[in-house]
Amino acid sequence: MTEAAGGKRVDERSVAAPERGAAGPPGEAGGLQGWPEANLGGRPAEEVLGWAIRTFRPRVALASSFGVEDVALIDMWWRMDREVRVFTLDTGRLPEETYEVMDRIRERYEIAIVTYFPVAAAVEALERERGFYSFRRSVEERKYCCGIRKVEPLGRALTGLEAWVTGLRREQTETRAAVRQVERDPAHGGIIKVNPLADWTTEQVWRYVRAHDVPYNRLHDQGYPSIGCAPCTRAVLPGEDIRAGRWWWERPQTKECGLHLAPREEA
Ligand code: SF4
Repeated sequence: MTEAAGGKRVDERSVAAPERGAAGPPGEAGGLQGWPEANLGGRPAEEVLGWAIRTFRPRVALASSFGVEDVALIDMWWRMDREVRVFTLDTGRLPEETYEVMDRIRERYEIAIVTYFPVAAAVEALERERGFYSFRRSVEERKYCCGIRKVEPLGRALTGLEAWVTGLRREQTETRAAVRQVERDPAHGGIIKVNPLADWTTEQVWRYVRAHDVPYNRLHDQGYPSIGCAPCTRAVLPGEDIRAGRWWWERPQTKECGLHLAPREEA
């Protein structure tokens, strides 16, 4: 155990920071060969994340919206390597609870959280010309807003990286049913996208978070399994889909913000 910021005692069952290239990758063929195309999952999440850190550090970062999957991955990364690289897209419409958990994570692990904001002039024009809730009018309007507040900043965040890590899981929604643990990302120049939790269930994620006492967004305790921008997220009802509270006025097939789609799928 070690003392982290705020006097919090942290379980230190971690391994030493891995050296880049110090250990072999999890794929039988070595390197990336056989991985993006052949891997359909089934590897332990820690193994996949450790491989990504060893292989790509320092040109790898975790994209976090501070949902429960993301905080689990931050903890997992921290146990292998204290220099966790994490960024988030501050859209300007996030719930207060998301900022709160960001600060708790920052203090608990003593890590910097890099924020990317949208281009101010683009947001100013969006609000001036289309109003403050234009995203409710149509899927196109909603994607326009996500494009300005999320997709463009993500492109900047990924510039210079060889790989990014996400908390995507196949179980989350039908638009994510084909997510692999390691895949190429054609929407971002073919860099590697690493989804260590691709085949985890919701129960597995929560088991991890509780076992390691990881700080999480308190909206999760209020019926929000998936959390995005405040005006586009609501609590779900018992029996509803995990992502039912995101853009709830749309059909399930359209419910992605453009961060995790190939260009042809965004059209
Ligand atoms: Fe805009 Fe809603 Fe997308 Fe946030 S989730 S960027 S508010 S449309």
